[in-house]
Amino acid sequence: MAEKRDYYEVLGVAKDADKDTIKKAYRKLAKKYHPDINPGDKEAEAKFKEASEAYAILSDDDKRRRYDTMGAAAFENGGAGFDFSGMGDIFGDIFGGGGDIFSDLFGGGRSSRRNGPRRGADVQANVRITFDESFTGTKKDIEVNIQDDCPTCHGSGCKPGTGKKTCGKCGGKGQVMFTQQSIFGMVRNVQTCPDCNGTGQVAEAKCPDCYGTGFVRTKKRFEVTIPAGIDNGQYVRLAGKGEPGTNGGPRGDLLVQVIISSDPEFTREGTDIFTENHISFTTAVLGGPVRVRTVDGMVEYEVKPGTESGTRVRLRGKGMPSVRVNGARGDHYATLIIDVPTHLNKAQKEALQAFDAAMKGEEAGGGKEGKKKGFFK
Ligand SMILES: [Zn+2]
Ligand SMILES: [Zn+2]
Repeated sequence: MAEKRDYYEVLGVAKDADKDTIKKAYRKLAKKYHPDINPGDKEAEAKFKEASEAYAILSDDDKRRRYDTMGAAAFENGGAGFDFSGMGDIFGDIFGGGGDIFSDLFGGGRSSRRNGPRRGADVQANVRITFDESFTGTKKDIEVNIQDDCPTCHGSGCKPGTGKKTCGKCGGKGQVMFTQQSIFGMVRNVQTCPDCNGTGQVAEAKCPDCYGTGFVRTKKRFEVTIPAGIDNGQYVRLAGKGEPGTNGGPRGDLLVQVIISSDPEFTREGTDIFTENHISFTTAVLGGPVRVRTVDGMVEYEVKPGTESGTRVRLRGKGMPSVRVNGARGDHYATLIIDVPTHLNKAQKEALQAFDAAMKGEEAGGGKEGKKKGFFK
């Protein structure tokens, strides 16, 4: 799985930073990396997006809580799905213009930068794993229908046997100049050439299989690394494995939703695991060892004398690993169900009748103290 930087690390704030600190940190980064200040600088743009994504999550109480417990996997749609409403406020006082930049950068639909590089769309897929696999973590191959490099032209977009020629629009420079009204006044700006996507070269003749785009839709295999402890419905993100961008923009991400088959024994809530475990009538009365199957294997638990049916015992640290906190584990809760014997032979019946008689005798004779002693000793 492609590693995503920690949002707190991205903004350079502590895990317990308050909202004001987070806002200040983001504002500083946004000022430094804003695309209007760094035209054509891909690295600055990436930094700006990363910081904006981090801010969108950490500035929202609910999202921040989800991120703190589940990590980036909690957010299924990545950049394109974030809610950037409200972020215009913070930009109002920096750039005077509001937050439209976000929809441009994250593919939200504004067209003012139609000719600029645009990130490709995210692609969703899913993969089914077993409960055991969700505990250990696993690798799965999946097939996704996606745009890939055209095999005829190997992504060049040129008809086989032909090459490239200098782009007529930009004269091979890869950029075109234009004048723009901005918050800094009228500025001459450079823009990536829309005809050659900044390469300065265009195909002499277009590839007939991909119509010069360099991409064809195809079934592609991906190996998905699923981390131990992943929960049903969570996503694994393969950064840059989505649809190709346009005008030289980066690919979107591949978001793989993990579906976990239900287990006959284990159920799960958060990182805790729950089971029902049957114990015998005598074990419940007299106490004794009971074996509980956990994800770690069999664990022996000593049942207290006089255990009632429905008692829940906790096996600390025998739950699911946390995908977010390295080494952390949930607990295993076993609900003890007492099996009442139904088919007794003669000897067993007589033993129980003797027991019953002894109990009645004590009730008639002794007080509470006597009853307890007689019952357990
Ligand atoms: Zn082609
Ligand atoms: Zn050009």
